[in-house]
Amino acid sequence: MAGRLNGAVALVTGASRGIGYHLAKQLAAEGAHVVAVARTVGGLEELDDEIRAAGGAATLVPLDLADMTGIDRLGGAIHERWGKLDILVANAGVLGVLGPIGHIEAKVFERTMLLNVTSTWRVIRTVDPLLRASPAGRAIVLSSGAAHSCKAFWGLYAATKAADEAMVRSWANETANTALRVNSVNPGATRTAMRALAMPGEDPDTLPKPADVAARILPLAMPELTETGQLFDVRQNRFLRYHAPD
Ligand code: NDP
Repeated sequence: MAGRLNGAVALVTGASRGIGYHLAKQLAAEGAHVVAVARTVGGLEELDDEIRAAGGAATLVPLDLADMTGIDRLGGAIHERWGKLDILVANAGVLGVLGPIGHIEAKVFERTMLLNVTSTWRVIRTVDPLLRASPAGRAIVLSSGAAHSCKAFWGLYAATKAADEAMVRSWANETANTALRVNSVNPGATRTAMRALAMPGEDPDTLPKPADVAARILPLAMPELTETGQLFDVRQNRFLRYHAPD
């Protein structure tokens, strides 16, 4: 398969549906070998079928990202099998619960932090050496407008995404003098299961499709990308600048 990512290896978490599914498919269509992580085997197999039908290649990794030891094995397994990793899409995430900060159950808070923050860090940690070794390492971490709007009742989810963005910015500063480029993405409201859970009364047909959102994110995986440590806003189709105090 000929594409702009021929020979690249890309790890995509949350690839069984939604935005991650379509990004994985589009990365494969560009020639990348996609390592697709999620729990739902049916969704991963559907992705594999679609990628193969289009002439691409994928490796399926059914894994619960609450399993930290399982995550820790990913970097080594990828190194053993392909000897490299060029692209990370840290996309898997959960909504947790929408509700007043004072009413959130401790278990729900901790699990949401675990899946949206700790597991994202753990994925980054296991593949960081591989991405740094790539001639054009690219990392894309899915954030949310919630991290900045901080609307009432969105505090838990907002806090996880703000934490991810802070981590990505620090990582970008650490790697600024390398070929690695790492950015956060705000996809905006997208027609997926997570959005339907958050806004059950909303007509999904009014929202952008995950395939279209993924197509806007795809350039962040390309070797020619120069930006790092920034937030890409899908709706505006541009990077928003962070203003860091001196
Ligand atoms: P979906 O709910 O459609 O998909 C989430 C993905 O994450 C699934 O593939 C799911 O796989 C995976 N996932 C969830 N929990 C786990 C787990 N424990 N272990 C492994 N994988 C897991 O979400 P979206 O596509 O809507 O969201 C993708 C990203 O974009 C998320 O980070 C989300 O926060 C962000 N986002 C989405 C917006 C939207 O409007 N949709 C808006 C702003 C940000 P499985 O269940 O098979 O394990």
